[in-house]
Amino acid sequence: QTLKIGLLFGGQSGEHEVSLVSAKSIAQGLGQNPRNQVMPFYIQKDGVWCDPERSLNVLEAGKPEQIDNSGQFKLPAAANEVDVWFPALHGPNGEDGTVQGMLQLMQKPYVGNGVLASAVGMDKVLMKALFAQAGLAQVKYVALSRWQWQQEPEEWYEHIETTLGYPCFVKPANLGSSVGISKVRDRSQLEAAIHSATSYDPRVIIEQGVTAREIECAVLGNEQPKASIVGEITYNSDFYDYETKYTPGMADLHIPAQLPETVTQAVQDMAIAAFEAVAGSGLGRVDFFYVEASSMVLINEINTLPGFTSTSMYPKLWEASGISFHDLCDRLVDLALERHKPIV
Ligand code: ADP
Ligand code: MG
Ligand code: MG
Repeated sequence: QTLKIGLLFGGQSGEHEVSLVSAKSIAQGLGQNPRNQVMPFYIQKDGVWCDPERSLNVLEAGKPEQIDNSGQFKLPAAANEVDVWFPALHGPNGEDGTVQGMLQLMQKPYVGNGVLASAVGMDKVLMKALFAQAGLAQVKYVALSRWQWQQEPEEWYEHIETTLGYPCFVKPANLGSSVGISKVRDRSQLEAAIHSATSYDPRVIIEQGVTAREIECAVLGNEQPKASIVGEITYNSDFYDYETKYTPGMADLHIPAQLPETVTQAVQDMAIAAFEAVAGSGLGRVDFFYVEASSMVLINEINTLPGFTSTSMYPKLWEASGISFHDLCDRLVDLALERHKPIV
């Protein structure tokens, strides 16, 4: 029996292009199993959905296109044929629970995290509150809204300087791919960084800067999630910013990360605890800072729809853990079907 898989890609976020690459890899992965029939649905940058025929052209060409200029959202008729959805979308309006909510209302199973985990995973303020609740070690931080900041800017600068010090990182609460993030070293940079971050999101987070190795662990599963082998990212820039992430050759993946066994174990345990703290299901990539000087593992974030190209960390970690790319795609579909079953 064939399974019609609605592959959602593109999307309204800054990670549209990455999504095109992820989706192409996933379509190839799913294509290995004769059970699967992939139906691509391209979401244009303006949010309009395209039918599978036109979407297939975009998927194969691998570059953004504006096909439908109606400016109006409508569900293509073919959406009714889909048995299970596979959102291969990153960032706001894709990874943040909005699309998940729509798929939930359509009453069809979908791959990956549900509404709650997706929304929390995209919001650094709420994510950190839940990590704290779960007892996970993390950097010191201050949450700030644009309104609070505009009322008493000087008081906030002083508060940030005394509680966090420099360098610190200023980030929009709801974003990814390092967009809107600045590393700041003095008050004038702090001011400029808050200006910049609040232009992306009225809520921001400011974190104490740490000197650390960047470690990532993949999680797969629903109720009994498993952690993968642990990986590390190295790069030659000031921090893992947008350019470093998306310019080929600027960052290197190391799998497995060369770490003491106790650290690897701590990372894997914390990855599962983080996944559970946000009520994750399906998949998640949990990112850490390993402060070698003090041998401390700090959680940075969970990404509920991590990059999924054939060279991305998430599938690479599973490959190293014994699950090939196409098996991983199938397992995610199976997990979606399993989760969708009504509880009796
Ligand atoms: P995103 O969700 O956009 O990936 P992150 O919170 O992961 O945002 O930050 C992006 C990058 O910025 C990190 O991978 C790291 O290189 C750097 N960074 C962020 N926060 C800190 C911090 N508190 N200390 C040191 N480096 C940081
Ligand atoms: Mg992120
Ligand atoms: Mg990150």
